[in-house]
Parts: sequence; C-alpha cells; structure tokens
Amino acid sequence: MGERGAAVVWDSGLLGYDLGGDHPFNPVRLELTIRLARALGVLEGVELLVPEPASEDELLRVHDLSYLTAVREAPMASWDVGHGLGTDDNPVFDRMHEATSLVVGSTLLAAQRIASGESKRAVSIAGGLHHAMRDRASGFCVYNDCAVAISWLLDNGFDRVAYVDVDVHHGDGVQAAFYDDPRVLTISLHQHPVTLWPGTGFVTELGGRQAQGTAVNVPLPPRTRDPDWHRAFTAVVPSLLGAFKPQVLVTQCGVDTHEEDPLADLSLSVDGHRATYRALRALADEHAGGRWLATGGGGYALLRVVPRSWTHLLATVLDRDVDPAAAVPAEWTRAVRHAAPNADLPTTMGEGKPTAFAPWGGVLETPVDAVVRDVRRAVFPLHGLDPDDPRD
Ligand SMILES: [Zn+2]
Repeated sequence: MGERGAAVVWDSGLLGYDLGGDHPFNPVRLELTIRLARALGVLEGVELLVPEPASEDELLRVHDLSYLTAVREAPMASWDVGHGLGTDDNPVFDRMHEATSLVVGSTLLAAQRIASGESKRAVSIAGGLHHAMRDRASGFCVYNDCAVAISWLLDNGFDRVAYVDVDVHHGDGVQAAFYDDPRVLTISLHQHPVTLWPGTGFVTELGGRQAQGTAVNVPLPPRTRDPDWHRAFTAVVPSLLGAFKPQVLVTQCGVDTHEEDPLADLSLSVDGHRATYRALRALADEHAGGRWLATGGGGYALLRVVPRSWTHLLATVLDRDVDPAAAVPAEWTRAVRHAAPNADLPTTMGEGKPTAFAPWGGVLETPVDAVVRDVRRAVFPLHGLDPDDPRD
C-alpha cells in the first residue's frame, strides 16, 4: 500500500464503554486484546489514532434527537427513560452518552482516514455496536457506530458501501438503517433467528422496495463449524461483492461465533476467525479497491477467545499475519493469570482446528447447502447472477 499503512484507532478511554457488574460486554476483552497484540509485536511502530467523541450532528445521521436526549439523561434520571435503556441487556451506566459517542467517534475516525486516502485500511476494535436502532438501545449497543460511519461515507465521496457482518447475531441495526438505501449492501451471516436473539435475519429479508437484494441474510444452523461456515460464506459473499462493486468494505467482526462463547451456539474456532479476516482482506483488495474498515463486535469468551481472535484481526489489517502455532507470550499469560489465577489460558495463537473446506458445488451435500441454495435463489437474480451456477 502506498499510504501510510493501515490505521488502528485505539485509546484506553474506549474502556469507558462499560455496562458494569457481571454484564458479558466487559471492556477487559479490549484491554486484553491490545495487550496481546502488543506482546506479540503486532502493534510495533504503529501509530494508534486517538478518537474524539462523535458530535451530536454525526449521531443524528442514524438516531433520533429524543433518543439522544434519553441517553444523556438516563444516568441522572430517577424515572424510566424508555428507549430500551435500563434493561438487563442495556443497563444505564455513568457517562453513557459520552462513552458511546467515543466508540462512534472511533469508527468514524477510521472511516475518515479511509475517505481521505491516508489509509486504505483502518480498524476500530471497540466498534461494532450493530444492534443499536434509530430510537432505542438494543443488544448491549447504545449508538450504532457502524451505521454512523457508513452514513458519513455516503456523504463524503462514496456511493456504494458494502457491509459484511460475521457476528453470531444478526446485524439488525445496520440492516434497518439502510434497508431502503440501494447504495448500501448489507450481508449478515449469523446463527438462525429461530434459535437466537434478536430473532431476525431470515433469508426473506431482502431490502425495501427500492433496494431489493441489498439486504442479504445467511442464517446458519446451531453447531455449524468452520468448514461449513466458510463454505457458505464463499458461496454467497464474493459473488455479491463482485456484482455490487463497493468502493469500500465495512465489516463487523464479532467473535461470538466461537464454540466456547457463552451466549450462542455456533462452533467456530480462533483459526476459523483468522481465516475469515484473511478472506475479508482479500475481498476488500479484489472488490473494494483495497479499502477496508474493520470493527469489533460481540465476543464473550473474554480470556480464551476474544484476545486471540482480535489480535489476528489487527494483524491481518496490518499485513502482519500471526502464525496460529505461535506461542501466546508469557508476559500476557502472567498478567492475565494475576487477575484470573484459575483460568484455563491458551498457550498458542490458534487451536489447531481444520479450516479447509470444499467449495459449494451447486447441489445439496452438507447441512449448510440448503441455506446456500435458499440465499442464492432469493438474492442472486436481483444482482444478475445465476443462483444455481456455482461459478457465479
Ligand atoms: Zn453478537
């Protein structure tokens, strides 16, 4: 890349997005990721960009003013402010508006770096709050950084943005924000909505009347493993990106698809996550002029999964791929052991799980092939692609 390399947005202030108590969305996952990436040398010589909180004008791109007011007031209010706030999933916390605005500012800064041409790739590891809706908090997400960044890109020189969401949960908030906008292609691969919150993300959700085919959903059966996940991904995503021709690829890289994740039931591995990031990078290079904005997302196996998987994400964005056989540095293990003496900590950067897969061949062979068939038949004709031809 001719630019100043990939941009990494990070500041410890982002740890202020803390839902408190024993809420699963614990910011320690980010702290341990950065610590592991540093220990491995992944961030050596990399300038970390410090974000500013997103302004109200930027938040209003995808949120209602009445909702912003509720988020601001909630920590001081003795009454129920509504808007999904104050629930078990979305508890009110101190400085909630400021902390969430900083997460949005982080992803926005990544988008601005790409739009200015200073960087082809940028990563906002604290971002990925894909469930937040126009007027309500949802699924641990207060403001939708992904949607704000995409909206900003559309007003700053980009006419076609592709969003690929590999979190185990449906990327419902981003889909909703652009459901009627033909300039944004949203593709979400997730555990089947009949078996997992939020209960949306069916194949039949295809986009509004003026945007048919620009919402794409790939609902996967529980216990899907890496090879089948990648078989489905490869049978759907590359062709659609090739047909849509985005100018930038935005990805939500949640890692709650992992077999050990406590909140969901897909059976992916750290090795599978690493393979996904490498695939996304190749797709950005091939179909989006190399422009790739990556965010974090879900992931609740705080010690054994998130730090390793997102270190691979950072490394992939920076073209510093880490060997899955590499040892987890002792200094990281010591630090984590200090806080969690009895934790079963990983010793290598991968899990030795197979990620190789046989490409979809156009007929029903494995459990995900029926999903692949249904998605392709629903979506591909809307993009001039042949759903039954595996070459498309
Ligand atoms: Zn999730």
